[in-house]
Amino acid sequence: MSLKATDGFLLRNGNNMHEKISPESKEYGEFKESLKIDTETFRGDESWGSDVLMMLRMNEVKAERLREQVKGDDPESPEAKHIEELERRNQEELRRSFENYIALDKDPKTKGSTIFLMAEAMQDPSIREELSALIPKGRLPLSNRIVEAIVQKTERGEEFSMELWERMLEQNQKTFLEKLRVFQEKVLPELKQKFLEAVHSATEKGTVPIPEEKIRQMLDTTAFILRDPTAARLENNMGRYDPENNTILVASYLVDSYLHAPEWEKSVKQDKDMAEFYGDGGGKDRAEKYRKMAEHGRANLLHTFYHEALHMLSGKTVVTEYEEGAEHLADFEHKKIGLRHVGKKVARFRWLNEAMTEHVTTELTGDHDKKYAGYKKELELFELLRTKGKKEIPLELFKNAYFENFDPDQNEQERLRHWKLLRLELAEAYEHDFIVKLDKTIQEKGIDHAIKSLKEGLAV
Ligand SMILES: [Zn+2]
Repeated sequence: MSLKATDGFLLRNGNNMHEKISPESKEYGEFKESLKIDTETFRGDESWGSDVLMMLRMNEVKAERLREQVKGDDPESPEAKHIEELERRNQEELRRSFENYIALDKDPKTKGSTIFLMAEAMQDPSIREELSALIPKGRLPLSNRIVEAIVQKTERGEEFSMELWERMLEQNQKTFLEKLRVFQEKVLPELKQKFLEAVHSATEKGTVPIPEEKIRQMLDTTAFILRDPTAARLENNMGRYDPENNTILVASYLVDSYLHAPEWEKSVKQDKDMAEFYGDGGGKDRAEKYRKMAEHGRANLLHTFYHEALHMLSGKTVVTEYEEGAEHLADFEHKKIGLRHVGKKVARFRWLNEAMTEHVTTELTGDHDKKYAGYKKELELFELLRTKGKKEIPLELFKNAYFENFDPDQNEQERLRHWKLLRLELAEAYEHDFIVKLDKTIQEKGIDHAIKSLKEGLAV
């Protein structure tokens, strides 16, 4: 691959060369394909603490071999000393992972993620019983209450059983692996199929302006990975699209409704049989509760999957990076993803991009009341932005800009023309560069302030 300056799109940054290319280009396609192979070779789908468990098991195997070598039971023999050392190291590893877990809970950025490990651990009845003892009798042992109780215990300087902690990590790993199997065998193919069907009918209505074949191909070249939400940073602990690695992460607990469906159905059937036997309506409540849980779980999973898949489909500006003198590409960077634009210093319009993604997601799932939508404030601000100016801005303008790819083959005026058109409309409805000012306000004063300003017609 040789370097050539195309239309002044070759930029220089330090010693590296940058070039804007089309996301439709062959080299971008090949880049994504190679990423997928990498991801599948080095799968990142492990449960929180599984690395610690692996180390523990390895040390145990080593200790077992040493025990076979020891003659007699001389505690002063080098083998016995080594065994002791391995056991000490395992205790240290466990303690360190426990401390890391507590630290996750204390960090505001990751605080919400700790309950997922707890919820998984508590599926084991004996673990659940032991943990329930940490909270006052009569209170429901909810995972968030247990996490809180454990954190308080450590703050008081009290010990937490490392034997129990190890069993908790094992239980978390066990349920994660079960979910991973269900996800790969059943859930993922179903979700992809449903997404294609939803997009198919939406394309007829013009919601998603991308040919079906292209969508199918993009789904095929993206790696879908189930993640333990305690181990990964996910949007609202649910999912994440990562363009630099071309992956879509899905939180493992979202698969629960599929995993537990058979036992729920069994319980519902038992209740029905009982009700028939006694000739009363008993069991109706439980059946209704399970039906709602399953429905809610599936809707959440579907929503998350569609949301992340839309980030993947949304239009992009791709910048390639070559090291000086090198023939091969060093990297790709995404300067535009949907409506989010990454500048030299800051990323702009993240809120708008999420609002648009949520809006299209609910159109695809048919959730018109936005019951399953996240980013509620972003959606509210988006609606205000569209309607509170001197003129209303059609949704189509936002959509066209959202799905627009940068194309270097177009002339200057035509490149990202939908985005330019949207900016013009926004300037007419408000003032010049209003959207940039609004974005700055959100970053500096928060989204609530921006909502209030738009509602009351104040300057931002
Ligand atoms: Zn998102």
